[in-house]
Amino acid sequence: SKAKLFDQDQKVKTSFKDVAGLEGAKEEVQEIVDFLKSPEKYTSLGGKIPKGALLVGPPGTGKTLLAKAVAGEAEVPFFSLSGSDFVEMFVGVGASRVRDLFKQAQQKSPSIIFIDEIDAIGRARGKNNMTGGNDERENTLNQLLTEMDGFGTDTNVIVLAATNRADVLDKALMRAGRFDRQIYVDLPDLKEREEIFQVHLKPLKLDKGLDVEFLAQQTPGFSGADIANLCNEAALIAARSSKKSVEHQDFLDAVDRIVGGLEKKNKIISPKE
Ligand code: ATP
Repeated sequence: SKAKLFDQDQKVKTSFKDVAGLEGAKEEVQEIVDFLKSPEKYTSLGGKIPKGALLVGPPGTGKTLLAKAVAGEAEVPFFSLSGSDFVEMFVGVGASRVRDLFKQAQQKSPSIIFIDEIDAIGRARGKNNMTGGNDERENTLNQLLTEMDGFGTDTNVIVLAATNRADVLDKALMRAGRFDRQIYVDLPDLKEREEIFQVHLKPLKLDKGLDVEFLAQQTPGFSGADIANLCNEAALIAARSSKKSVEHQDFLDAVDRIVGGLEKKNKIISPKE
């Protein structure tokens, strides 16, 4: 059997209402939705539609979710692959995989290509050349650059890529006509955490007295992914003691468990806010 080259989702269900907070980032990607929906409107005066944008921010803040929501809102197919999948790849596979990805996306255009953890492919070239695997990575990166330069502005494929290390990326990636836009996706503030809680509390059977604002206050430094995880843990903790609904204490117990886990991973929880 042939290894899967990349993922594709022809009918994306994710929309902006699944993405809590991130108002600024949503505003910026709304423009990309508009480009995909009515390119003629934007090219009528001679302008060129951007080919790529970089979503930059810490892990778990909703970069993948946001990219998917762009495809969902524009009602276009979503092609995705993760840079980390390239780490253990055989020689020649990376470049051909990128080529196939772009070919498919063009055939199904308008469409979105999403490359998660692009830093795994897109680190500055010519560094750490001591290890054999790096040539393969460079080939993959070069192929990515070639593909982005190759497709015309009339192709209507927009490439979104996510990273939490924009500083290590090869500058060639950020050149005009490639990933020349950067969109910041930050950790949520207090109000945003409350909004993220609202999204992830929805499927749970909650105790009537639950104070969502208080939960947001108890979780400084949590990402959206941490909050999603917390809500799930709380539901499991409540179920373990055969409760009929998830109570405040279950969330506090889940916070303890998750903060413990985060500390083990050496993540820093900001004491501020
Ligand atoms: P990574 O850099 O680790 O790949 P990411 O920024 O791509 O992370 P996602 O994979 O999009 O983060 O987020 C993981 C999950 O966390 C989402 O599927 C969602 O359940 C939840 N989540 C993250 N951010 C948000 C948000 N702003 N609103 C609602 N849910 C969120």
